[in-house]
Amino acid sequence: MAYEVVSIGDRAWRIEDEMVRCFLFEGTSAALLVDTGVSGGALCELVDSLTDKPIYLVNTHADADHIGANAQFKRTHMFPAEFMYYAQNEVSYKTPALPLWDGEDIDIGGRRFEIIVIPGHTYGSIALLDRANRLLIAGDSISATPIFLFGAQRSLPAFIASMEKLTRLASAFDTILPSHGDCPVPASQLGAVKATAEALARGELTPQDPPFPLPAKLYTDGAAAFFAD
Ligand SMILES: [Zn+2]
Repeated sequence: MAYEVVSIGDRAWRIEDEMVRCFLFEGTSAALLVDTGVSGGALCELVDSLTDKPIYLVNTHADADHIGANAQFKRTHMFPAEFMYYAQNEVSYKTPALPLWDGEDIDIGGRRFEIIVIPGHTYGSIALLDRANRLLIAGDSISATPIFLFGAQRSLPAFIASMEKLTRLASAFDTILPSHGDCPVPASQLGAVKATAEALARGELTPQDPPFPLPAKLYTDGAAAFFAD
């Protein structure tokens, strides 16, 4: 399947890849690519057709649907708690991962992105905060579609702590760019996801069968949803 490129502002794009998306932001000195999708199609070629700036690749986390075309790039960057999980992916791991730290700024020239470490969906998940444009790139941790919280790498208590951390930053963004489902979603989706996660932790949500085969149950209160054990 071909990628679909959609403009999301000045020199900024979302790149749709089947059920997931990447983001590309061009600054005056570099271009930030967030994630590489699932299909492993000709992503590097596509990115090179959109920008001639050097690419700074960041993975929000190391789930297979976010690192699918990593092998086409020289190096990537992620929070080190993700390194061991990343190393399990034999194809993508050939591209070395360099560390990103909580609070670190990625400056691409005229545009900055702050790394916010938010474990829960995976141990080393991150969000990127663009304060000037009031945008939060949330990876898989905030979405209008069900968030995966079952199996290895996931932690509901860490996820809730991370939602509390993002809530303390909520005055800095109006818009959230998720990797799955509708994009963008309003900042209010953070509160919905946090409240639903807390209700899940308290055992208040009724398990439902998932809409497609999955070794997990669907939990929702209508405002947000999780696939969880
Ligand atoms: Zn994903």
